[in-house]
Amino acid sequence: MSTLVFGHKNPDTDSVVAAIALADLKKKLGEDIAPAAQGALNPETTFVLKKYGVAAPQVVTSYAGKDVYLVDHSDLAQSPDDLGQANILGIVDHHKLGDVTTGQPLECWIWPVGCTCTVVASMYNYMNVEIPKDIAGIMLCAILSDTVIFKSATCTDADKKICEQLAKICGEKNLDALGIEMFKVKSAVEGTPIRELVFRDYKDFKMGGKGVGCGQLELVDLSIVDGIKAALEKDIRDLKAEKGHHTVLLMLTDIMKEGTELLVASDDESVVEKAFGVAPKNGKAWLPGIMSRKKQIIPFLEKVFG
Ligand code: MN
Ligand code: MN
Repeated sequence: MSTLVFGHKNPDTDSVVAAIALADLKKKLGEDIAPAAQGALNPETTFVLKKYGVAAPQVVTSYAGKDVYLVDHSDLAQSPDDLGQANILGIVDHHKLGDVTTGQPLECWIWPVGCTCTVVASMYNYMNVEIPKDIAGIMLCAILSDTVIFKSATCTDADKKICEQLAKICGEKNLDALGIEMFKVKSAVEGTPIRELVFRDYKDFKMGGKGVGCGQLELVDLSIVDGIKAALEKDIRDLKAEKGHHTVLLMLTDIMKEGTELLVASDDESVVEKAFGVAPKNGKAWLPGIMSRKKQIIPFLEKVFG
């Protein structure tokens, strides 16, 4: 039985690509291991894998009895429901330490960088394993995606340095153009059901015992969602009721203007003003300079919820 490596629920490009790359590295180091994803791939990830000719990982939702590596998360809420019956061999991540625990010692690479793939690429370097051209291409895209083409507050010099190395390996000359090509695919909303858009990059959190959900759509231009904004607002209100959450937020992030329009459905909208200093008007607040859920939204909300 081979070991499986997988990222978080509602997989994004980093979760999928880091799993593929870590499986490749571990295989070369002699492990019997395969990449997996907890759900269907989003359009951006599908585009990235196709561009570099890399096969999509199998979708696996149950991991009981398996040896596993986690990438791009260490939160139980982002993990498979039966993770407790799996044997965790290691975690490679770039988020705050979550609540996953293990019964055995584990291999742990958790760095405060912009993307899990920056850590995985550094692991190739550390282990002296050559990064294949196709894996370099998809890791480069994952880093451009997670760091919003180096603009996100989460981006570090380590991310930029690894991207230089990966770009050389895969022969990409214009990283801005590559990034924008990718974000155009990511921005496409036409023909996609509203709930699917809300869930495209959505995470649930527990804050002070209360349920808080936060989704994000990264857009090359905010006007892309003008025609569906009302429907998005209604849907996060519905979602809040369905989940029994205190608050559900949807970040509409304009990656060119470098700011976020926050859609708010909450039992107490004042949490937004307390966290970000802007009072929502009609359930909406414009937050200039805010692009990262991980670094600029969640920590401030957690402070308010206590
Ligand atoms: Mn992710
Ligand atoms: Mn990530």
